[in-house]
Amino acid sequence: MIKSRAIVLHRYAYSDSSWIVKALTEECGIVSFIVKGGKRKESPFKGALDPLALCEIVYRENPNTELQFLKEASVINWHAHLREDLLSLAKAQVMAEIVLRYAPAGVPLEGEFPLLENALAALDEPAGDNSEVKLPADNAPESKPPEAGVAADIKLPMNRKSGVFARWLLDICDLWGYTLDLHTCSRCGLAIEGAPADFHPETGAFVCKSCLGVETPRAKKETLDGFFALRTGNTAIANPEFTENALLAYLRNHIGFLREIHSLKFLNETRKLFPSG
Ligand SMILES: [Zn+2]
Repeated sequence: MIKSRAIVLHRYAYSDSSWIVKALTEECGIVSFIVKGGKRKESPFKGALDPLALCEIVYRENPNTELQFLKEASVINWHAHLREDLLSLAKAQVMAEIVLRYAPAGVPLEGEFPLLENALAALDEPAGDNSEVKLPADNAPESKPPEAGVAADIKLPMNRKSGVFARWLLDICDLWGYTLDLHTCSRCGLAIEGAPADFHPETGAFVCKSCLGVETPRAKKETLDGFFALRTGNTAIANPEFTENALLAYLRNHIGFLREIHSLKFLNETRKLFPSG
C-alpha cells in the first residue's frame, strides 16, 4: 500500500459514476487512478480529487496496469482562494497541463512536486489581504517590534502573485535541463547590468545593452523588465504575460510543438479580462 501526497492534474469521467484521475504524486511521479463511484454525491473522496487540489492518497500499486485503484483520498488544501481568482486559476491549469504533458512518465518527479506545490500555494494567497503577509522568521514582530512610523511606510507590491507563473516556468526550464542564464550576456559573456537589452526565445540567449548597440531588440520592454524582476527575486512583475509568453515560447522550442497546451487558450481569454495582471 502506498500513501503519498498528490496534486490532481486532470480528471475526466469514465462512466456515469467513475472518474479517471491523473495526479502528480510526491513519491511516484504521475499516476493514473480509476475512482469508482467518485462522481456520486456521497463519495468519500469529496473535493479531494478536484483538479488542482493537494490531497493525501492511499492506493495499492499494481505494476500490471496503467490504472491504479484508489483506496483513500483526503484533501489537504483545496486552494479556495486560487479558485476565486480567474487569472490565477487559468495559470494554475496551464502549469498542471505542462507537467502532465511534458514531464517524463513512469519516474518519480521529486523536483516537479515541490515546484507545483509552492506555486499553487503562492497563487492561493488571498488577494488584496495585506494583513496576512508573512514576515521573515528573524524579523518576527514579537522579537523586534516595528518602530512607529516604519510600519506605515511599508508599501506592498500591488500584485505579489503576478510573478509566480513566470518564476515557475523559469524553474521548470531549469529542472528539465534548459537552464536560462539571466545573469550573462550571450555575446560578450559579461554580467548584465539592469534589465537585459534583448532575449531570443529560440536559443534562450540574453543580450546586454552594449552588445545590442543600435540594433532594434526583438523582445518587448515588458518582457525584459520581467526577466530583470525574476533575476532580482521579485515576486511582482508589472506585465507578466510578456515574460510568461517568452518563457513558454522558449520551453516549447526545446520540448517541441508536438503537443498543444489546451489550457493556454483559456489563459489567453482570461488575460484579456485582466490586462494588468
Ligand atoms: Zn554583451
